[in-house]
Amino acid sequence: MTAIATVGDTARAAARKIIEEFPVKAAPVPVERIVKARGIVLQYAPLADDLSGMAFIRDGVRIIGVNALHHPNRQRFTIAHELCHHELHPDHLRDEVHVDKAFRVLLRDGVAAQGTDRLEIQANAFAAELLMPRVFLNELVDAAGLDLDDDARLEALARKFRVSTSALRFRLGARE
Ligand SMILES: [Zn+2]
Repeated sequence: MTAIATVGDTARAAARKIIEEFPVKAAPVPVERIVKARGIVLQYAPLADDLSGMAFIRDGVRIIGVNALHHPNRQRFTIAHELCHHELHPDHLRDEVHVDKAFRVLLRDGVAAQGTDRLEIQANAFAAELLMPRVFLNELVDAAGLDLDDDARLEALARKFRVSTSALRFRLGARE
């Protein structure tokens, strides 16, 4: 049977390339430094609670805006998500300011996904892989896997990666 590439595969591959090139040796991934090293300007501003962040290009300058009122771990996910839009969807950003409301992290990662959903699926897959790289997860989670109901263990792992436990739970559930 031939493996069918999903929409997220391209995004995960792009994230892994960044981890290798930066390079990042261990969790937590320094997402702010990665963004700045790529010449992207990071701006923090207090935004409405349902706004996570935005990505846009102004006068040729690539900019990521982050909701400064959100939890730092959530800001990290936002920054990684917006970085994906700059890396993979620059044409989209030239036309308009991409504004992200609370991320729909449970969007299905399928070949049929189209349009805006496709961009968001890619950005979430990219962010998950960038902040919780497969190679680091494999080192920390034994072959038998991890009981997703083991809250203490999940919380400890999430602290290590500086992500929310819900992001980690989703990542582990969808590990590939
Ligand atoms: Zn987005």
